Amino acid sequence: MDYNVIVVGGGVGGLATAIRSAELGKKVAIIEKSEIGGECINRACIPSKTLIDSAKIVNKIMKSSWIASTAKIDYAEMNKFKNQIINGIKDNLLQVLKKYNVDIIRGKGEIKNEGEVIVSGKTYTTDNIVIATGSEPLSLPDFPLNGKNVVDPWTAMNMPNLPDNIIIVGGGVAGVELATLFRALNKNITIIELMPRLLPVPGIDIEIANEVKKRLEEKGVKIYVNTKSKIVKTDDKVVFTAQTPSSTEEISGDLAVITIGRKPVTDGIDLKNIKVETDQRGYIKVDNRARTSNPKIYAVGDVAGVPLSATKAWRQGIVAGDNIGGKTSEMPKYIPSSIFADLEIGVVGSTLEELKKANINAREIKVNMKDIPRAWTVNEIEGFLKVIIGEDGKILGANMVGEGATEVINTIALAMELSLKVQDLYKVQFSHPTISEIIIEAVQRAIVGEIY
Ligand SMILES: Cc1cc2nc3c(=O)[nH]c(=O)nc-3n(C[C@H](O)[C@H](O)[C@H](O)COP(=O)(O)OP(=O)(O)OC[C@H]3O[C@@H](n4cnc5c(N)ncnc54)[C@H](O)[C@@H]3O)c2cc1C
Repeated sequence: MDYNVIVVGGGVGGLATAIRSAELGKKVAIIEKSEIGGECINRACIPSKTLIDSAKIVNKIMKSSWIASTAKIDYAEMNKFKNQIINGIKDNLLQVLKKYNVDIIRGKGEIKNEGEVIVSGKTYTTDNIVIATGSEPLSLPDFPLNGKNVVDPWTAMNMPNLPDNIIIVGGGVAGVELATLFRALNKNITIIELMPRLLPVPGIDIEIANEVKKRLEEKGVKIYVNTKSKIVKTDDKVVFTAQTPSSTEEISGDLAVITIGRKPVTDGIDLKNIKVETDQRGYIKVDNRARTSNPKIYAVGDVAGVPLSATKAWRQGIVAGDNIGGKTSEMPKYIPSSIFADLEIGVVGSTLEELKKANINAREIKVNMKDIPRAWTVNEIEGFLKVIIGEDGKILGANMVGEGATEVINTIALAMELSLKVQDLYKVQFSHPTISEIIIEAVQRAIVGEIY
C-alpha cells in the first residue's frame, strides 16, 4: 500500500481529514486539482468576509458623526489585502500538512476501484479513501452562466471593475452577503427571491429575515420576494422577466450574479463501482461518522450533502480523521451557522415555528440589542436574540441578528451540544460590558425576570 489514507480534494473538509488522520499516525496523501484551501479559503468564506468587513469599517466610520473623518474603499487595494489574507491562511495550512508529512499530489484524482486513486495516469494504492471534492455552481436553464454578465458569486467578487447595476438572483445566505458588500461599494443592487421571504433557510426565524430585509432596503437595496424570474436577454444588458404576485415586470442590469443552484463534484469518481450510495441530487450519503455505504470510503464536506458550509465540512473532516485513526467520534448534533450581512446573523438549532410544526412545546425569550449596554457603546443597538427553550429548560434553538451575533451563537451552540439547561446557565457570569451578556439576560428572563 502506498498510503493508509488518500483524501481527494484539498478544501477545508479534505484538509481537516488529512491533518487529523496524520496526527493519529496514518500515512496520508491529499490530492488537489486546483488550489489547496478549496472554495472556502480561496473563493468563498475568507475572501467574502474580508471584503464585507472592509465595507463594515467604512459604514461604521460614516455613521459615527463624532469621528472627524470620512472613509471610502479602494477596491484595488482591498483586493490585494484579500489576496494577502488568503495566502497567509493557506501558508499556515501548508505548514501543518508538512509538519505531519502529508504528501500533496497535484492533479485530478480519479477513482475507479476501491483502494486505488489515479492521478495523471499513475495509480496510488490506499487502505481508505476520503472523498472531499466539494460542490460547484450549477448553470440553471433560466439563469445560464456565461462568465461575462451572468456569473457565480466568486466570479463577481473577482471582477476588476464591478458595473453599477447588479441583479442578484437568490436571497439566501450568499445573496444577502453579496448585496451587503456590493451596496457598500455604492452599486445599485436588486435581489430577486422566489420564496415569499428573504433567507428562506431552515433554522432562520422569519423575524430575523424581515429585519435583514428592512436594513438592506434602508441602505437602498431593491428586494423582490415571491417573484419568479428568468433571464431573457444578455446582449448588452442582462434582462429578466419577473413575475411578482401582482404583475409581470422587466428588470435589467449590467451584471447578474446567480447565487442559487449547486451540485456535488463527483466527475471522475465511479461511485457505482466503488459501491458508494448517493441521494436523489447526487450528494454522497454518509452516517454521523462520515462513513459512506462502503466501509473503506468516507465522504466529507459539501459532496456529502447539506448543510453546504465550511463549518460542517471542517468538523466532518475531523470526525472522518478520528474514525480512520481509530478514535470513535461523531458529528455534533448542532451545527451553528453565521451570515455576515451588514447586521450579522447567527443561528443554531430550531426556530419556534419549526418546533410547533413538529408538535414540540417550547417558549421563546427575546432580548433586544438595545437592552444590552455594550450594544450602545459600539453604536449598534439594532437587532435582537431569540432563545427557544424546551419544557425541561433545555435550549432548543437560537437566532440572533445584530453586532456580534456570529460570535454569540457559538456560546449558545456550546450550551446546546452539552445539553445545558437555562437553570445551569443561570449559575454562569459573563464579563461586563460585552455583547454576550445578551445570553445571560435571556437566561435571567427565562428564570426570573428582566435585569436590563
Ligand atoms: C460566496 C460564498 C460564501 C460562503 N461563506 C461561507 C461562510 O462564511 N461560512 C461557511 O461555513 N461556509 C461558507 N460557504 C460555503 C463553503 O465555502 C463550502 O461549504 C466549503 O468550502 C465546502 O468545503 P469542501 O471542503 O467540502 O469543498 P471545497 O472547498 O469545494 O473543496 C473541494 C476541493 O476539491 C478539489 N477537487 C474536486 N474534485 C477533485 C478531484 N477529482 N481531484 C482533486 N481535487 C478535486 C477542488 O479543486 C477543491 O479544492 C460560502 C460559500 C459561498 C459560495
